[in-house]
Amino acid sequence: MSGAGLERFLVVDDETFMRSMIKRVLGALDYQNVQTAAHGREALEILDGGEIADVVLCDLNMPEMDGVEFLRHLAGRQFRGAIILVSGEDRRILMTAESLARVHELNVLGSISKPVTPEAIKVLLNGYAPAEAVPRRRAAPEFGIDDVRAALEANQFEPFFQPKVSTADRSVQGAEVLARWRHPEHGLVPPGLFIPLAEREGLIAPMTDQIFAKAMKAGSSWAMEGRKLKLSVNVSVDMLTDLAIAERLYRGAEEAGFDPANLMVEVTESRLMQDLASTLETLVRLRLRGIGLSIDDFGTGYSSMEQLKRVPFVELKIDRAFVFGAHKDADARAILESSVDLARRLELVTVAEGVEDEDDWNQVAAAGCEQVQGYYIARPMAADEFGDWLETYEDG
Ligand code: C2E
Ligand code: CA
Ligand code: CA
Repeated sequence: MSGAGLERFLVVDDETFMRSMIKRVLGALDYQNVQTAAHGREALEILDGGEIADVVLCDLNMPEMDGVEFLRHLAGRQFRGAIILVSGEDRRILMTAESLARVHELNVLGSISKPVTPEAIKVLLNGYAPAEAVPRRRAAPEFGIDDVRAALEANQFEPFFQPKVSTADRSVQGAEVLARWRHPEHGLVPPGLFIPLAEREGLIAPMTDQIFAKAMKAGSSWAMEGRKLKLSVNVSVDMLTDLAIAERLYRGAEEAGFDPANLMVEVTESRLMQDLASTLETLVRLRLRGIGLSIDDFGTGYSSMEQLKRVPFVELKIDRAFVFGAHKDADARAILESSVDLARRLELVTVAEGVEDEDDWNQVAAAGCEQVQGYYIARPMAADEFGDWLETYEDG
């Protein structure tokens, strides 16, 4: 792929008028190769169909899939193009969305408040650097669904564990289970490269089962050594419409010898609130079986107090966008503090994700967060390594 291009544009906006307006503005700047999509899903279809966009201009306020969720999907696909956010909302929401996108390691040029002017676009495009010039962590291998299917057969998916500790005394409260693919050639593959694919192609359930079974086995062996940890598993919203899932998780834990009362299910806020009607039954069933419910990536889904009250959550995890750098970003801090406040009123345990250094730690502790998860304490680790880590951490 040549890195020359600032040529291909994709405009995502639900308003026909805005789409043609932005297209005209780009045309006036001599950019003729402009595709448009009326919503996030259409834009993803265009990109999944092999079209390349050097720059995506994306409206934040769209029905169905809002701009924030769209960004998450772009991140999951390791999108390398540049992004310009457009919104009629006030500056603060744009800024927060911008920092969220950066946390996802997307290449954000900046944001524009409507109305969109040629000058505003021009200024942002001047900051454009082609993907090759943007440092990337690794050359991401491309996987297809057949690779995932083969990996399932070969039993290559496994759980990694990242500790959650108490802000009060740093004691270990539990761990989050994070999916990894131990690939014979590519080594450890992070979930962003296979979870969205598995979700799209209907393989997320068997993959989750494979990871879950191994996690329960590890959890029960730690319990036998006298370390009763809470384990949190990520469950895709797609799986919650399956009415048998609560029973399956409960049995899976029991059969492995892991106390289901120490099991927690994490569901992502933004996806959940869209599908609440079809998932509420499963959520209630999980609670009836004594399994905890945690609302994940909180702050990215704009849930209302009313919506939150309808779901029997026990824990709220604040997205790392509002933790990372909160000590120097007043907007992120405001969201962090209001999330903690909301959680307290709903009697939920608060967990801050993505605490990377002492400044972050002090900030979330001051905000009143009860637990912390992040590189500052430890990175996610394979089961053996996590067992060793526990021993040295508790000694030290
Ligand atoms: P998540 O549930 O929000 O998980 C937290 C992510 O933040 C993990 O990324 C973790 O490694 C990362 N993280 C933790 N501490 C820090 C920190 O201090 N700094 C930074 N920069 N990152 C930190 P990971 O493991 O790559 O997982 C990404 C996402 O993939 C997860 O986000 C979750 O949404 C999804 N995922 C992971 N495992 C599963 C799974 O088994 N099933 C499903 N459905 N989704 C999963
Ligand atoms: Ca999670
Ligand atoms: Ca999270």
